[in-house]
This record gives sequence, structure tokens and C-alpha cells, in this order.
Amino acid sequence: MSAATPARERAAAEVTVHNAHKWYGSHRVLNGIDLTVPAGQVTVILGPSGSGKSTLLRAVNHLEKLDVGHVSVGGEPIGVRHHRGRLKELGERAILAQRSRIGFVFQNFNLFPHLTVLENVAAAPVATRRATKAQARESALRLLGRVGLAGKADAYPRQLSGGQQQRVAIARALALEPGVILFDEPTSALDPELVGEVLAVIKDLAGGGTTLIVVTHEIAFAREVADTVVFLDGGRILEQGPPEQVLSRPREARTREFLSRVL
Ligand code: ADP
Ligand code: MG
Repeated sequence: MSAATPARERAAAEVTVHNAHKWYGSHRVLNGIDLTVPAGQVTVILGPSGSGKSTLLRAVNHLEKLDVGHVSVGGEPIGVRHHRGRLKELGERAILAQRSRIGFVFQNFNLFPHLTVLENVAAAPVATRRATKAQARESALRLLGRVGLAGKADAYPRQLSGGQQQRVAIARALALEPGVILFDEPTSALDPELVGEVLAVIKDLAGGGTTLIVVTHEIAFAREVADTVVFLDGGRILEQGPPEQVLSRPREARTREFLSRVL
């Protein structure tokens, strides 16, 4: 382990979603989701627009509260905890602490426009007192190297291409050494020629000690990188399995129809 490697690199965490239900008013968005993503594995979630993919990811990160069911990351329930044999809601501080184990990469990058690339990556470890400024800078430079952007440390987000911005966002997610990273359509906002460089960075993370859940329509990526592909439709998991099964021999007509539209 080099001196630049943080001593307490976190281990990949298993993610389980148990009987997740969510309504917006009378509109049922999640309709009984049960999902386990083993520690260190890659799950790709596919499904038509409005099928509940983003809501599911947001529930895992506790940005969205489930009406029924619960999520756990690394064995600890998020949003609820056991109290005298019952599940009790966690307080805001506990939620923030648990959320710090989960990285989230959004479709639209969401970088801080007034901070440099290096500051974007170093900000959270300093703000959460996980690192001194000097340690955070050093580890941010290492992470920027890992996503191929060591030379852009002092640039501002607006000076970068979309693909470069998304790679900074991935470095920023890695800076908190998360056990899990959630990607919500990380390449959907990119020009086609920039998609590959972002997928290459995600692929590079696969099998590297972080659990990855990736919502994407990039079928070739899913085929190559996913351990499991999940097809979501109407707030339910219609089918799931290894990529060669779900993508090449889907059992459900809805899955076949969806694949014929995105391929
Ligand atoms: P996906 O990511 O698969 O496109 P979403 O999880 O974003 O789907 O949304 C699922 C459904 O929930 C959609 O019908 C959407 O319109 C609805 N929805 C999402 N967020 C909200 C919200 N905050 N209020 C009301 N309806 C919402
Ligand atoms: Mg979505």
C-alpha cells in the first residue's frame, strides 16, 4: 500500500432491497422490489422510462423514503434500524453517515461550478473531516489520475467536455471511499463520441472492491461488465439474471420488446 493510499479503504458492501413499495399520491412507482447485489459485484438496471429505476436508486441512497420495505447497505438497514425487535426510522445524522458510504453519479454530473476539478474531488472528505486538506488534495490527484484527468486539476467544470465532467464526478464519488456507487444513466447526457470514455472508467472500477449499481441503456456495456442484469417494468423486477440470459434469451415479451427498441 503506497503512502498515498488511505489506510481505511472501505470494503465493498452488499446491497439488499427488501419488499420496496413507493407511491406518489395514488401512483405506485415501486411495487414490491426484492434485490440483492453481492459485495463487489456489478448490477445493471434496464427498463423503460418511468419504470422506477431512478426512484429505486434514490431509495438505496435514502434520497427517497420507501412507504413499505427497507434497504440495507453492508448489512445495516438504511433509513430504519432495529429497536426492541422493530424497525425504527433513523435520525438525519445517521442517514447522513450511512449515505457517506454510498457514491452517487448523476446523469447531469452535478459538479460545483465555482470549484476547480481538484476542489470538487477534495471537498467532501474535508467537509466530513475524513481527511486534512493536504491529504484530500493528494488523494484527489491520485483519483484524477485514475480517471485520466490528472492534467485538469486546476480547470473549472465549464472548461471540460461532458465526458471529462462525468469522469470528475466519478472521482468525486470515489473520494469518500464508498462501499457502493450508484450510477443513474451516467452517459445519457453525453454526445455519443464521449460515452465510451465514461463507460471505460466505470468498467475499470468493476471487480475493484466497490459494489456498482448502474442504470443505463448501454446494452453492450451491460453484456460485458454486469454480473447481473435486472429488467424493471412498472415498478417490478420482470426478470433478472446473467447478461447472456436476460439480454440474449429474455423470457418476457416486455423485455424482448424493450431490447428491440434500445439495441
Ligand atoms: P425511471 O428512472 O425509470 O424513468 P422514475 O423512478 O424517475 O423512473 O419515475 C417512476 C415514476 O414515478 C414515473 O411515472 C414518474 O413520473 C414518477 N415520479 C418520479 N418522481 C416523482 C415525484 N417526485 N413526484 C411524483 N411522481 C414522480
Ligand atoms: Mg430515471
